[in-house]
Amino acid sequence: MARYTGAVCRLCRREGQKLFLKGERCYTDKCSVGRRSYAPGQHGQGRKKLSEYGIQLRAKQATRRYYGILEGQFRHYYELAEKKEGKTGEQLLSIIETRLDNVIYRLGFATSRPEARQLVLHNHFLVNGRKVNIPSFLVKPGDVITITEKSRNSEKIKHVLEINASRFVPKWLEVNRETLEGKVVDLPTREDIDLAVEETLIVELYSK
Ligand code: SF4
Repeated sequence: MARYTGAVCRLCRREGQKLFLKGERCYTDKCSVGRRSYAPGQHGQGRKKLSEYGIQLRAKQATRRYYGILEGQFRHYYELAEKKEGKTGEQLLSIIETRLDNVIYRLGFATSRPEARQLVLHNHFLVNGRKVNIPSFLVKPGDVITITEKSRNSEKIKHVLEINASRFVPKWLEVNRETLEGKVVDLPTREDIDLAVEETLIVELYSK
């Protein structure tokens, strides 16, 4: 399945919640979710009540779109989660949270996940001193993420860091804004993840 290249604000309106796909704009009153709180398209304002399947599907799609993950990879994460101990839905979110592009965003080294993905692909980061340009790379406790020496002087990176200087960083991560170093101190739990989706609905959908 190809990566979605259309207007991303439509995705938020479809899911009825902010997915934070546009960086700075998401935090302003220009955000489309507040201004047009109905689904996009000709019939967006007259949609019928969702079926049980429809509700489960929306939960899965919202999660996939929030993190920018294609269907095949999302299913792969689900299979990994099923093999872990504990609640599959919570394990699924925990695994996805540890993707490098998400971690870069959480640390405030990017203004959105799509931007984090781009920055990772363009070789701006090191994990434990080694260049990693794979957005889906999964970090683990103890890993240290830094911005490369060359990238620290880039105007783009300086701008991003300035905007995100006061970004909230979840407790499973630590950031040093002087040395521009982030550390994974623990694995994320459900309470660390601010996604307004009932993950049990995803489990119900995939268990059919
Ligand atoms: Fe657009 Fe961001 Fe608002 Fe979503 S949260 S509708 S991406 S501005």
